[in-house]
Amino acid sequence: VTVSVCFGQVLDVGLWLLLSCCSAETALVHGDIIPSPAKNAVPCTARGCKWRKYGRYVYVPVSFSRSYSRNEMNTIIRGLLTFHSTTCIRFVWRRWWHSSYIYFFSGSGCWSYLGRQSRGQRISLKKNGCLHNGIIQHEVLHALGFHHEQVRSDRDEHVRILFENILQGLEGNFKKVETNNLGTPYDLMSVMQYYKYAFSKNGKPTILAKSDPDLNFGYSDAMTQNDIDRVNRLYQCCE
Ligand SMILES: [Zn+2]
Repeated sequence: VTVSVCFGQVLDVGLWLLLSCCSAETALVHGDIIPSPAKNAVPCTARGCKWRKYGRYVYVPVSFSRSYSRNEMNTIIRGLLTFHSTTCIRFVWRRWWHSSYIYFFSGSGCWSYLGRQSRGQRISLKKNGCLHNGIIQHEVLHALGFHHEQVRSDRDEHVRILFENILQGLEGNFKKVETNNLGTPYDLMSVMQYYKYAFSKNGKPTILAKSDPDLNFGYSDAMTQNDIDRVNRLYQCCE
């Protein structure tokens, strides 16, 4: 069902829009997050990097690179529609009057900015490698203001980071952040959780679950209830 609202047309698989391609890319921190001046993490959501809510819904305008095929674009849209069915986030087609919006394109790898930027922001979902539901939702959650699970402020109670196994120079990806965890538990099955061997230099684990060092994790292909609860709480969807 397609719903018309004053902020643009709500996304629906089957619809699409052509827009121009884009330009250069910047260096990454935290693996797949672009550093942004004045903002470094979820705490920015308290200072204006949340998307704005109008009435009951939070409208997030989106547009897509024309280099995606219709099938590829629909894969992304299906990932977005999960937010419609579980949260108050509503992705709408970007119109000229939207100054903040997300532009999906096939860049080098899968990455996103953290939180809403004051101008249009890009999410890179490379055609061969990133067009998986869990990855799409992961990058969109970054843009909505969420950081990686393993950098949560309370992570040391739940996981052990094995710095001796991390590739040199990439330790910054495991630096803790003063996150607002919104009353939700640490969730190893979150789409925001890196896998056990992320950035390993020697094939040994870089992250171990304290509850069970043999546990494998970080392969979720869909948001967990905790991921969904966080969106609903950050954006006060139920109020
Ligand atoms: Zn990420």
